[in-house]
Amino acid sequence: MSTSNTSAQGQRLGLTCCPTCTNLCQTQNKTCPRCGQEVTSRDYSSIQKSWALLITAAILLFPANLYPITVMTSQGQVRKDTIFSGINHLIQLDLLPIAIILFTASILVPMLKIIGLCIYLLAISFEVPISKRKLMAGFHIIEWIGRWSMLDLFVISITAALVNMGQLFDAKPAPAATAFALVILLTQLAAKVLDTRLLWDRLESNDDRT
Ligand SMILES: [Zn+2]
Repeated sequence: MSTSNTSAQGQRLGLTCCPTCTNLCQTQNKTCPRCGQEVTSRDYSSIQKSWALLITAAILLFPANLYPITVMTSQGQVRKDTIFSGINHLIQLDLLPIAIILFTASILVPMLKIIGLCIYLLAISFEVPISKRKLMAGFHIIEWIGRWSMLDLFVISITAALVNMGQLFDAKPAPAATAFALVILLTQLAAKVLDTRLLWDRLESNDDRT
């Protein structure tokens, strides 16, 4: 491997890419000559914004899992389900595939996303000795998981539709549904807001020892 440390960075050459129109701009100009957008070489405040969003999402995981997420009314009986009791209920009803999808979408994916983003932010914020290869793999996993974010909302709407159509049930979202939707939204924003160039800087400056 002899490709490292020879690549020229735009930052060293005084060049940066406009975030709006991708025009190559001189860093000292501050604004893009083509579209007028403010141009910064690196957005260091994005780490703080990302941390704030991620911590809020992690805190909201508690009400999302502890409070009921659906209220079902069937023949005058009211049944409140948390995510866990809902999955348990589906297993008891022999609906194992739906239970697995619900578990993956509402517990596994959000958890993995928060843990992944947390490792990623720790690696940028504090020089955590994680090898280049692992950081890159982690980055691709977070990117990949991101595409499945809508699965959670999709599963909830499908389950509600199934329940409403199949029997004489009436399913309504309960308080945890708001918290859960916020967890998904905030993790999405935390990943979106972060200036990924900060990670590439770290990768450029660190030699891979594994
Ligand atoms: Zn521009």
